[in-house]
Amino acid sequence: MVTQEHESLLSDTERTHGRTALRNNVAAASALADAVRSTLGPKGLDKMLVDGGGGETIVTNDGVTVLENAEVEHPTAKMLIAQSSAQDRQAGDGTTTTVILTAELLQNALELVNIGVHPGLIERGYRIASKEAINELSNISKKSSGNDSLKSVMTSLSGKSDEGVREHLSKLAIQAASALSHEVESGMYADASLVKKILDKGRPSIESELVSGLVLAKDKLHSEMKMYPKGGKILILDGGISRRKPDIDINLKVTDTGMIAELNAQELADIENRVSAIAATGCNLLCVRDGIDDDAREMLLKAGITCYRRIEKPELELLARTTGSTMVHDAALAKVDDLGEFTSLTSENWGGVTHMKIVGSMKGGMTLIVRGTSKARMDEVSRGFDDAMGVACGLVRDPRVLPGGGATQMALARFLRKFAPTVSGREQLAIDAFAGALESIPRILAENAGLSPLDEVLRLNAAQESNGPWTGLNMLNGETEEMHDAGIIEPFSVTKNAITGAMEAAVSVLRIDDVLWANQDPSIPDWKSEESED
Ligand code: ADP
Ligand code: MG
Repeated sequence: MVTQEHESLLSDTERTHGRTALRNNVAAASALADAVRSTLGPKGLDKMLVDGGGGETIVTNDGVTVLENAEVEHPTAKMLIAQSSAQDRQAGDGTTTTVILTAELLQNALELVNIGVHPGLIERGYRIASKEAINELSNISKKSSGNDSLKSVMTSLSGKSDEGVREHLSKLAIQAASALSHEVESGMYADASLVKKILDKGRPSIESELVSGLVLAKDKLHSEMKMYPKGGKILILDGGISRRKPDIDINLKVTDTGMIAELNAQELADIENRVSAIAATGCNLLCVRDGIDDDAREMLLKAGITCYRRIEKPELELLARTTGSTMVHDAALAKVDDLGEFTSLTSENWGGVTHMKIVGSMKGGMTLIVRGTSKARMDEVSRGFDDAMGVACGLVRDPRVLPGGGATQMALARFLRKFAPTVSGREQLAIDAFAGALESIPRILAENAGLSPLDEVLRLNAAQESNGPWTGLNMLNGETEEMHDAGIIEPFSVTKNAITGAMEAAVSVLRIDDVLWANQDPSIPDWKSEESED
């Protein structure tokens, strides 16, 4: 029981209890889902997001981008956005679906609460439904074969950009994921973060290019240093070649003019020593993190070694992986064993800027050259590639696929509706509610394609009754079709994560029965509105 005294401790806090709290939270979740539902599916529309401060605009069809850029205050909405971001990280796709499912699960739960079902019971029912649905998911899934991977990556990009670019990006992502895939204890694995991106504004997006190595806006150290289009040996130095400074602070009192000359000579000898050690390895290309002294530059040129300096550590690491070299910390200690191999070194000029392109012989890292005619376009291509890459890497780990076009969700809903009566007690109602939430996906896909949501869901239900769970709605022609033939395929992990993630998010909102809003201190200035005034 909350005593008077306890209440007074919360006097500067706004508080909502029980059903009011739930109603508010569900309203916030639904509002958020409404903001992204029109982007779902191949006929989903784009959104233009305008930043209040700088006026920067983003044009996107990507649910998670819309949400992450929205300035949302409501704590429940923030929880949903976090869930959508988690889906993006874990599965690389299915973010809009997750938010829509969560909001639908909550909406249906609220209806049950209104007729007297306890939230705890709904939670139990939702957990049973989710577990059963995931089991059934395995039964529906098929192992991907042929160009299923490409099709499922393309499905994940549906609605984003034009068909040509979509196919191109999907192919690049599959190529990158398969090049980067390797065996780990639990099976196969590919790391999407091993692809670095560089922007090249001006050319069309379809000319975006994947390089098995490093591309950087950088010119060689000396104009006479040569390119190696046929490849050679590379040495990577995690340091520089400059005059060594003494480790301690000393003041030298020069008593003899010869002393300076001698000091200089010693330093020069030290540099010469280091360059000779580098040259002795027989390398053709040297990439260095720090600077290179002018004298060293001349010596390297004479030794026929092409050199690039001031390359950041992550890029050097990528180079080390793709060329199989070992990074050296002190040039004087460089050995033949440290060398790696590159298959070509070329330079390209884009928009007046020289770029170096080093292609490695190993598959440890890649660079995607993102092309487009505007910054907004390149950003969208880059996000599209990230989605595609997330999905492609997911498929390396788990190559099972499921039908898209609302087929999987419809099949699960049908399955759960049959399963519900086998459970005694009120959980049955929650399992039915879960099925209803899953149906929202084919419903919204139809709605976004300008079709009647009700009729399409009924039509799909009937079609699955006779043709099985792989029958879905092809929104490009409005037909009910076999999704594998139509090429509308989704990775198992995307669909599975969307369902379990939405269930967890909905349950955590359902559990809240008390929301305490701390009143804001009036002395805290509102920076945003102040900034926009001037
Ligand atoms: P999300 O952020 O959830 O991935 P998308 O906007 O990418 O949202 O839409 C994905 C949904 O669109 C999936 O349910 C997928 O099956 C569906 N989809 C993709 N292509 C088609 C198509 N041609 N016909 C019908 N549904 C499609
Ligand atoms: Mg998608």
